[in-house]
Amino acid sequence: MYEVGIIGGGAAGLAAALELSRRRISSAVIDSGRHIGGLSRDLCCKANPVCQRCDACSPVDIRREVRKSPFVTLLSDSEVINVRGIPGSYVLSVQSSSGLSEIEVKAVIIAIGSPTFDAAIDARYRYSDCADVLTSRDLETMMISNDIHMPSTGKAPSSLAVIQCVGSRDAKHGAPYCSKVCCKYSLKLVKRIRKELPGIEVTFFYRDWRPSDRGYDKLAEYGREDGVHVVRSRPAEVIADSRPLVRYATVEDEVREDPFDIVVLAVGLQPPPNSQKFAASLGLQCNQYGFFIKKGEGAYAAGCCTGPKDIRESVEEGIAAAGKAAAFLEGLH
Ligand code: SF4
Ligand code: SF4
Repeated sequence: MYEVGIIGGGAAGLAAALELSRRRISSAVIDSGRHIGGLSRDLCCKANPVCQRCDACSPVDIRREVRKSPFVTLLSDSEVINVRGIPGSYVLSVQSSSGLSEIEVKAVIIAIGSPTFDAAIDARYRYSDCADVLTSRDLETMMISNDIHMPSTGKAPSSLAVIQCVGSRDAKHGAPYCSKVCCKYSLKLVKRIRKELPGIEVTFFYRDWRPSDRGYDKLAEYGREDGVHVVRSRPAEVIADSRPLVRYATVEDEVREDPFDIVVLAVGLQPPPNSQKFAASLGLQCNQYGFFIKKGEGAYAAGCCTGPKDIRESVEEGIAAAGKAAAFLEGLH
């Protein structure tokens, strides 16, 4: 029996566990991934070499603290497949490699994050069949191992295009909202890449620039640097050739095709696929896209499963949810 069950061990879930621990409240963090840490585990440090405040290291620091706490139990590779009960007395059915078990808790914090858009769904960008078309997450993985290369040849690229808003601001794919994080992450990622590969030419294709971070709002200014180009256009498609060709219309309505060594798709954030199921059993609601609405009694949602947000905001929401859960538990006594 734990006081709080935290479903999801990403930035928000870990921050909630740490905050509860500081209040001497026990919690179990249950995560379906092999390792606790969520999406932020796959993000590289963007220091170039100055820290760019990407916050990728923040969940690592929080996890280190959480691991030391006697009030927190971390359960990875464990999936909550069902929740039943009422505020003050919930039972979580948890499937893991050792079988099915039940965990009793008094309150629940749901922090299951949000997956990134599956770029293969939008066939225009040739993610499935053009080796040198990558997602921003693929590029992060390369950066973590310090090995930026063209998958088709294994060689370092000399040119790179970033296409913004892939799977976001796109009603056709059910995501007309802005994913909020991809503008600033793309820019921070590119600044780090240009430190690793100083001669690389980078072109941003963007529709709007919404970085939500001071200091990262001046794309046009960055575009005046040698080797950086900014094009206000949403490319119509990528054409698979010996090098991927980006076809786009200029502001003068001229159609152009430019070749690049690598095309990076800045994929947006999607609602969690199982949000409706959890919402029904926890008395929560979802908005029209499937993100949780935060209000609840005894059950609280935090982090990207309530809508796109960056790591810092997710941590803040996790702490706030822990505060609400603590107040709820106090009211039970
Ligand atoms: S905040 Fe980001 S850039 Fe700064 S040290 Fe941490 S991971 Fe690196
Ligand atoms: S943050 Fe930028 S790239 Fe992401 S959806 Fe919004 S405008 Fe597009």
